Amino acid sequence: MDLTKLKARELISGYENRDFSVEEVTRAYLEKIKEDDKDLNAYITVCEDQAIETAKRVDKKFQDREEMGILRGVPISLKDNIAVKNVRMTCASKMLENFIPYYESTVSEKIKKNDGIILGKVNMDEFAMGASTKTSYFGPSKNPLNKDLIPGGSSGGSAAALAGEECALSVGSDTGGSIRQPASFCGLVGIKPTYGSISRFGVSTMANTFDQVGSFGKDVEDAALLLKALEGRSEKDATSVGNPSLHEPYNEGDSITYLKGLKIAIPKLYMDMELNERVKSDYNKAIEIFEKNGAEIEIVDMDSLKYVVETYHIITNGEIAPNMERFDGLRYAHRAKEYSNYEEMFSKSRAEGFGEEVKRRIMIGTHILSLEFAKDYYYKALKVRNMIKRDMENVLKNNQLILCPTSPILPYRIEENISPVEMYKADLFTIPANMAGCPSMSIPMPKIDGLSVGIELTANRFKDDEMIKAALGFERSINNGI
Ligand code: GLN
Repeated sequence: MDLTKLKARELISGYENRDFSVEEVTRAYLEKIKEDDKDLNAYITVCEDQAIETAKRVDKKFQDREEMGILRGVPISLKDNIAVKNVRMTCASKMLENFIPYYESTVSEKIKKNDGIILGKVNMDEFAMGASTKTSYFGPSKNPLNKDLIPGGSSGGSAAALAGEECALSVGSDTGGSIRQPASFCGLVGIKPTYGSISRFGVSTMANTFDQVGSFGKDVEDAALLLKALEGRSEKDATSVGNPSLHEPYNEGDSITYLKGLKIAIPKLYMDMELNERVKSDYNKAIEIFEKNGAEIEIVDMDSLKYVVETYHIITNGEIAPNMERFDGLRYAHRAKEYSNYEEMFSKSRAEGFGEEVKRRIMIGTHILSLEFAKDYYYKALKVRNMIKRDMENVLKNNQLILCPTSPILPYRIEENISPVEMYKADLFTIPANMAGCPSMSIPMPKIDGLSVGIELTANRFKDDEMIKAALGFERSINNGI
């Protein structure tokens, strides 16, 4: 049996039936990483010894029939901006190349408590800024569906590791689409739950009011399982409030019935937009699937969505610039070897430690926050954000979901260089959910020519259960060929 092909739930039932042991599965994954990852470049750090040690402990618990957590024996990878105590955490930056956190993020604490196996830390765009993993100091990851292509980003290593069968589940973070877009590019399910569902303690901050941890799975139920383990309020992160809707039971067998009478909104703007041909045809097919199964589609005016990309970059850069201040080479992180005074130490360390994209965002952020420009840019953008939020709330009062493609483009070739602005523009479908704190996820359409297009579902805040149920129905319908 090819153990690395199994879903997380299949692994768990296999352990329960004594079909194979956790150690066998963990070793199979470590072997696969050894063989394939030189080429795929999904991992930055592999935790071989700890993984095997944990696997043995979990096997013993299975033998002793002890009560166990919901991730029992499942091998998991974590984006390298999430701290695992005593394991190097780089954020894919030279700045943190040798940084070993002495603290445990709430996320990794929960994985450990739930008897999950942490296989290692995976690649990403530097400090989560990007959409391709090409801004990583450790070089880009490849897309397992076609190794000439990018896997997307910023959580591209998570998606590449899972699609490349180098883990069974993966944790990522999503500030403007960083879970959903790589999930879409690699043919996976990626879920960003409601803002505040999962503690950000121990997760390197990009933009505080947008960042949200989420999950990657081979199917909807796997991705939802991981969220159940991670959800919860934590005293260490005052913005984490928990989210009971992630624990709502659902009935997979009956899931198609969830689509009946479901009210779905499609922004008019999206219907009129020029999209990649393949994306457009899969989007139309998705709409058809929902309609055939009894969902009601309404075209809605949401003109504020025109401004999402610009607004997102003004506000996030305004948050990024001060967040990056802590990397000064004095307390921790990269320090230049030669300098003649403090000032020079700071500037040289930062000049050497940060890559181009991070510097660009720090500079723009600093500029737009300065006294004379804040009024014209930053404060105005905050108002537009409120407008977008209000529009989303109004539409989601009468509809359960907003439906669109996850990305307007397909993954492009690794060596192709697209301009930063072109890259930013491609996030137009994923950003609105982060603006409003809504749950949002990507589900793959069937593969054609080896590639799949992701369809995005967005629901109202704390209605994650409604989104996940609709996704289960949609997935089931696709599997049944309807
Ligand atoms: N691609 C987006 C950006 O570059 C999103 C990043 C993210 O979600 N971390 O900002």
